[in-house]
Amino acid sequence: MSTLADLHREILGCCACELAKHRTRVVPGEGDENARIVLIGEAPGLHEDRQGRPFVGAAGKFLEELLASIGLKRNRVYICNVLKCRPPGNRDPMPEEIVSCRKWLDSQLEIIKPKIVVTLGRHSMARFFPGVTISKVHGRERQENGVIYFPMYHPAAALHQQSLRRTIEMDMQRIRTLLDMTEDITAVPKTGEEPKQLSMF
Ligand code: SF4
Repeated sequence: MSTLADLHREILGCCACELAKHRTRVVPGEGDENARIVLIGEAPGLHEDRQGRPFVGAAGKFLEELLASIGLKRNRVYICNVLKCRPPGNRDPMPEEIVSCRKWLDSQLEIIKPKIVVTLGRHSMARFFPGVTISKVHGRERQENGVIYFPMYHPAAALHQQSLRRTIEMDMQRIRTLLDMTEDITAVPKTGEEPKQLSMF
């Protein structure tokens, strides 16, 4: 299997959808190849497109604050987007663009093998939780094949709607608990000891 650096090089050359014509830079993602947690946003915005890095604007600053609130530094997680190129004018991703870009996210997850996948925003959530509404399921994890999937609002939502800020902050605290639980989730429970439970939806 290729390394994450090899994969990033491949992504940088991708022209599989129309967005290749509009981008300044491709934004593959960045962070720890051995991260236990991967956070997935929707698509690069203006600043990300210019710098080739995910979450570098105001939403990125808030995301770093959220991570710090549970004792995590940005370089200890892996951060990427569903789409690796910016949609013009920050419009919503088109279904065909998501389909074209899907293989890159699949490969990133295959290489990193995170314990927890956090979706940020509804387009990222739809990739793992089709047919649900973010207002109903945010902050509630689901476990599948040994991976915990955890939907959250996009940090940018708090910048546009202050009332969501506290909700996002509280959901982030749940991730701290999940991280602590995944530390020993693979451990064999001692005789007579109940395994730790995750809430599901
Ligand atoms: S958005 Fe994804 S599929 Fe489209 S050109 Fe960029 S990397 Fe390729």
